[in-house]
Amino acid sequence: DGITLEQVREYVWEIPQEGDMRAPARVLASEALLDEIKEDKTLEQIKNTTHLPGITNYAICMPDGHQGYGFPVGGVGALDAENGCISPGAVGYDINCGVRMMRTNLTYDELQGHEEELVDSLFANVPSGLGGGGIVEAGVDTVDEVLERGVEWAVENGHGVEGDLLHCEDEGHREEADASKISQKAKDRGKNQIGSLGSGNHFLEVQRVTDVFDEKVGEAYGLEEDQIVVLIHCGSRGLGHQTCNDYLRKIEQQHQGLLNQLPDKELAAAPAGSQLADDYYKAMNAAINFAWVNRQLIMHRTRQVFERVFDRPWEEMEMDLLYDVAHNIAKKETHEVDGEQRELFVHRKGATRAFPAGHPEVPKAYRDVGQPVIIPGSMGAGNYVLRGGENSMDLTFGSTAHGAGRLMSRTQAKDEFWGGDVQQQLEEQDQIYVKAQSGATVAEEAPGVYKDVDEVVRVSDALGIGDKVARTFPVCNIKG
Ligand code: 5GP
Ligand code: MN
Ligand code: MN
Repeated sequence: DGITLEQVREYVWEIPQEGDMRAPARVLASEALLDEIKEDKTLEQIKNTTHLPGITNYAICMPDGHQGYGFPVGGVGALDAENGCISPGAVGYDINCGVRMMRTNLTYDELQGHEEELVDSLFANVPSGLGGGGIVEAGVDTVDEVLERGVEWAVENGHGVEGDLLHCEDEGHREEADASKISQKAKDRGKNQIGSLGSGNHFLEVQRVTDVFDEKVGEAYGLEEDQIVVLIHCGSRGLGHQTCNDYLRKIEQQHQGLLNQLPDKELAAAPAGSQLADDYYKAMNAAINFAWVNRQLIMHRTRQVFERVFDRPWEEMEMDLLYDVAHNIAKKETHEVDGEQRELFVHRKGATRAFPAGHPEVPKAYRDVGQPVIIPGSMGAGNYVLRGGENSMDLTFGSTAHGAGRLMSRTQAKDEFWGGDVQQQLEEQDQIYVKAQSGATVAEEAPGVYKDVDEVVRVSDALGIGDKVARTFPVCNIKG
C-alpha cells in the first residue's frame, strides 16, 4: 500500500529512492513470490532499511523474503564500514543461525528399514527442545574458549576432525571475537546449551539426494543421486538471543540521535567507529563462533549415532562435512562499488553468502566451482544445494536466499494444522519419519506454512546468484 514498485527486468523490482531514503531498495522475485511478499510488511521493511546511514547500492530482499524484526528475513544490507553503521536487527536475534550438510556414502536402499531406529536414536542422543542441556556442560572458562576459538576448540576437544574446519564458512572461526563483550547473563543462558538444537524451526534431518542437476559441481561437492546426507539447522541458542537483546537496548539508549532519524525503532544501529559498533561486532563474532561449535557438536554426535545404527566407523561411512553456511550474520567485507574497493558491513539476515568460483574466501576444495549454498525447504519438501553464482557479486554482494521462507505465522499455523496429523501424513505418504519434543512444533513447522522452495531456487538460479546443483528430500527429521 503506497509503496511504488518498478520492474527493472525479469525477477528484479525496485522501490525508487524518495524522501529520506538513502538508496533504492530491490526485490528479487517472480510475480508469484512477489504476491506472497506483498502479504506482510516485507516491502515496507526493506524500504525502511534504506534509511540506514551508509547503505550501499540498494537494500535487497531475496525471493524467500518475509517480515522480520525491523529488517526482513531474506534481507541483505551492505552498510559502509567507515561512514555507515551496524544494526543488530539486520543480523537477527539468532546470531549465526545457519545450516550445515554432512555427506555419507550410504544409499537410500541401505537406509530403508532403519528409519525408525535411526530417528529414535537421533532423538535420544541429540539434545533438542526449549529446556534441557547440551552435549557439553561448560564452565565459565570453557564458554569463553568456545566464544573466542570456535570450531578449533571443538576439534581440539574431540568433537570433530581437522577436515571439519576447512569445510566451514570462515573455517569455523571469527578472529574478531571477544568473549568479554558478551554479558554474563548471555553466557549463563548458553553454557548448558552447547550442542543442542533448540526448538521451533531448528532441526536435524537425514535426507536422500533425489537429483543432481550439475554433474561437474556435484562431483566437486561429492554428491550423487540416492546418497544419504544429513542437514543440521540451528544457531546460537539463548546466548545469541541475549546478546542481540543486550546490544539493541544499549544502542537505543546511546544512539538516540540516529534512532530518531530511522522510520522504525527496530532498526536501531550503532554508527561505524563508535564504541558500541565495535563492541557489538566483537560480541556478534563471539556468538557466531558459539553457533558454529553448536552445529559442530551436533554433527559429530550424529556420526556416533550412525556408527551404532549401521555398526561401522563413521570414517568408513565417509561422513564428512560438505559445508556450513551462516544465514544470520554481518561481516566486514571488501566489495567493488563504482569501480572502487570499499569496506562494508554486509548484513545477511535470512540470506546466505554465495561467493562464486575464484573468490579467495571459497575453500580450496570448491574454489574452481564456487561455494556450496544450502537451502532447506521444509520437513515435507525438497531442499537444495546451490553454488555461488557468477552474478552474485554484482547483484547481491555475494548472497542468495536461505530457505523457502514462511508463508504464515506460528499462531496461524496452529489453527490450520494438528501436529499428530501432519506427522502421520508425512510418514504414510512420503515415508518421512518425524520426531519432535512437541506436537505444536510440528504444526508450526508443517510443510504448508512455507513457500515453494522450488520457485525460490528457480529465481536464484535464473538470476545467476546461486545455481542449482542438487536436490534432496527428507527421510528422518528431529526437532524441538
Ligand atoms: P529460518 O532460519 O528462517 O527459520 O528457516 C530457514 C528455512 O528452513 C525455512 O525458510 C524453511 O524453508 C526451512 N525449514 C523449516 N523447517 C524445516 C524442516 O523441518 N525441514 C527442512 N528440510 N526445512 C525446514
Ligand atoms: Mn535460528
Ligand atoms: Mn535459520
